[in-house]
Amino acid sequence: VEARSRYAERRPKSLAVHQRACEVMPGGNTRTVLYHGPFPLRLAHGEGAVATDADGHRYLNLLGEYTAGLFGHSHPVIRAAIDAALDGGVNLGGHNMFEAELARHVVARFTAIERVRFTNSGTEANLMAIATARAFTKRSKVLVFRGGYHGGLLYFGGGGIPINAPYDFIVAPYNDTDATARLIRENASDLACVLTEAMMGSGGCIPARPAFLAMLREETHAAGALLILDEVMTSRFGRSGAHGLLGLRPDLVTLGKWIGGGMSFGAFGGRAEIMAMYDPERPGSLPHAGTFNNNVLSMSAGIAALTQVFTPEIAEALHARGERLRERLNEVFRKADVALQASGQGSLMNIHGFRGPVSTPDDLAASDDRLKELVFLDLLERGFYLARRGFIALSLAVDDAATEQFLTALQDVVTERRH
Ligand code: PLP
Repeated sequence: VEARSRYAERRPKSLAVHQRACEVMPGGNTRTVLYHGPFPLRLAHGEGAVATDADGHRYLNLLGEYTAGLFGHSHPVIRAAIDAALDGGVNLGGHNMFEAELARHVVARFTAIERVRFTNSGTEANLMAIATARAFTKRSKVLVFRGGYHGGLLYFGGGGIPINAPYDFIVAPYNDTDATARLIRENASDLACVLTEAMMGSGGCIPARPAFLAMLREETHAAGALLILDEVMTSRFGRSGAHGLLGLRPDLVTLGKWIGGGMSFGAFGGRAEIMAMYDPERPGSLPHAGTFNNNVLSMSAGIAALTQVFTPEIAEALHARGERLRERLNEVFRKADVALQASGQGSLMNIHGFRGPVSTPDDLAASDDRLKELVFLDLLERGFYLARRGFIALSLAVDDAATEQFLTALQDVVTERRH
C-alpha cells in the first residue's frame, strides 16, 4: 500500500492523463499487458535506452517493448531507413521495392523459412499459420500448451479465455513429453498442427526441454500434422532464432516484434510446398490480404534491422550478454537470500517470486506476486523499468555501465525488502 501511494504521489501528471484516458477508453487502456495498479506508467518520450514519463522521471528501459524494442528508442540507422521510406511516399497501394528484399533477408536468416508472407502483428502471423496448417492438412484440431501466449486471441493462460479464436484447441502440458506425445497420438487422425514456443516467453520465460521439442517434431511428423514454432519473441536468439540454435526444423515459423525494426510487424513462413498454397497463380490458391502487410515503414526499417543493426554476429553477442545478466541476477538473489529467481534464455528473462524449478507454467503458482510488485515499484523509484510481471528483454541500447547500475539498484531493493 505504501509503495503504491508513493508511486501515485510522485506522478500527478501521469494520473491526470490516465483519468482523461478513462473518459474515452475502457480503463484508459488499449494494451492490457501494460496495465498495472494503481494506474499504469504513462511514457512521454524515449531516447536510446532511456524512457521518460509524463512527470519527467527517467527510467532505464529494460522492458524493451516486450522484445520489439531491440534497438532502443531512436536508433539512427533504423531512423534513416524510416526516413528513406517516407521520402519514397507511403501508402503506395502496390507492391513496392522493399518487401521482396526484406523477404530475401528473412529467408536467408532463418533456416526453416523457405518462403515467407508478412502480416501486421505476431497475433495475425499465428492466426495465419494455424489457418495454413488446417488448409494444408485438411484437418481441424490445433494442439497448444497451457500457459502459452501467441497473441490476444490465442492465449491459453489459466481458465478459458472467452475471446480466443474459435478453433478446435487441445490444451497440453508444456514440457511434459509423455503426456503430450499421448495427446498427439490420440488425436493423430484429425490433428492439423501443434503450435508452441521454444521458450515460453509471456508464459514466464520457461525454456522447452530439447527432448520435448524433439518429441514434438517426431510425433507431429508421424501424425501427419504440422509443427508451428512461434518465434515472435525467440527469433532474437543466436543467428537463426531458437530453431537455429536447436537444429530444429519446424514446418512453419512465425515472426514479429523486432523484425520490423520497431514498426508493426508479423510474418509466417516455412516449407515452400506449404507456402505455395498462397501463390495466386495456383488453382484453388488461398487468399491472404492485408492493407498494411507490405507497408513501406515496416519493410524498410526491417531491412535495416536485419542487415545493419542486428546482424547474426550481434545477435550472438547479445544472447551471451543476456545469459551473463541472468546469471548475475540470480547471484544477487542468492547473496541476499531472498525467494526470487530469474529464468529465461539469452537476452529474455523473467523474475519470479519463489525458489525451485521453473519448468512448467504450473510451477509459477508458487510465485509471491506481492513481493514481485514491491520489487517492480521500488525499481521504478530508482529509475529502472521492467514489466510488472518481472519480464526483461535486454535491448542493444542497454550498455554494460547501465547493466551494472541496474544490478546495484536491484541489490539495494532486495536487501531492503528482505526485512
Ligand atoms: N507470439 C508470442 C510468443 C508473443 O510473445 C506475442 C506478443 O507478445 C505474440 C505472439 C503476439 O504478437 P503481437 O503483439 O505483435 O500481436
